[in-house]
Amino acid sequence: MAYVFTPLPTPTVPVAGTTELFPVRRIFCVGRNYAEHAREMGHDDREPPFFFAKPADAVVGDGATIPYPPVTENLHFEAELVVAIGAEGTNITEAAALDHVFGYACGNDLTRRDIQAQAKKAGRPWSMAKGFDNSAVVGPIHRVADVGHRDSGTIQLTRNGDLQQTGDLADMIWSTPEVIAYLSGLVTLMPGDLIMTGTPAGVGALVPGDTAVVSIAELPDLTITIGDRA
Ligand code: MN
Repeated sequence: MAYVFTPLPTPTVPVAGTTELFPVRRIFCVGRNYAEHAREMGHDDREPPFFFAKPADAVVGDGATIPYPPVTENLHFEAELVVAIGAEGTNITEAAALDHVFGYACGNDLTRRDIQAQAKKAGRPWSMAKGFDNSAVVGPIHRVADVGHRDSGTIQLTRNGDLQQTGDLADMIWSTPEVIAYLSGLVTLMPGDLIMTGTPAGVGALVPGDTAVVSIAELPDLTITIGDRA
């Protein structure tokens, strides 16, 4: 049997310090994982973690100029730690969770906030608020073998050089091991899966011409520029 058309290439993220690429399978995102951000969005501090997803081919890398997406007037940045999964697992225990991590990256969970607000109000899915083209900004993945694990340290985002978001990875409501354990009870995690682990307080809008830089302790900055409307 032949394909009816040539399959598109697998989306990838570069692996820092190597000439290798991490093939992206799925992108899961944790909602409301920092207390101050949960509060700024009108929610209590500790609810069970919940997840949404972005298509693998929404991934875009460091240095990209991203066209301002359609059907929004309120494109938001969200600085996030990205966990790259390197080993399959179902019902992973918290104690074993970090064994499934290949590496870490800076991320920016771009969000059409106005579309999300409409979806929330109507009780509808967030797919078009969160999973649009170029919405998963992920920097080079740093291997655990090189940088160890990331459970504390500053996470911040600047817009045009001005500090907008600041937090500490230690303030995540659900830690990386807890997120992996919980998510692996919902789906079988596979090598190539990425998890965007939620954003601290201070989210805000980007407009054409803006530059957004995500910084996470000891990981190189992740920079994007917003281009003209698509
Ligand atoms: Mn997010």
